[in-house]
Amino acid sequence: MASRDLDQLLPEVKSMADAMLNECQRQGFKVVVSCTYRSAQEQDALYAQGRTTAGRIVTNARAGQSLHEQRRALDVYPIIHGELADTKTYEGMQAWQKLGFIGKQVGFEWGGDWTMRDYPHFQLRG
Ligand SMILES: [Zn+2]
Repeated sequence: MASRDLDQLLPEVKSMADAMLNECQRQGFKVVVSCTYRSAQEQDALYAQGRTTAGRIVTNARAGQSLHEQRRALDVYPIIHGELADTKTYEGMQAWQKLGFIGKQVGFEWGGDWTMRDYPHFQLRG
């Protein structure tokens, strides 16, 4: 089962996630964790989205290629005015940049820096 529980992360990754979320809270910056651990089966279903199933493409990672499966990644969204931050607005992008900065400060690699941007994604390679 896919999870948004931080306890599903490796202990090292969980402490980084805690530090990140604490810093967000300290700044009065609202965020929500949407995913931590994802099984290989769930990763394949996500990869199929926008390719062989409905929806838009959200990942380039097939099963075995995502650090969510290794409990080394989490997805986090900034909340603005009660809604998930939009990357298409200036205010939304400000929030994403702020979140990316905080995540990188605690040591995560940020998907927002990738060529195929994955703004909510934060990971620690093994
Ligand atoms: Zn992710």
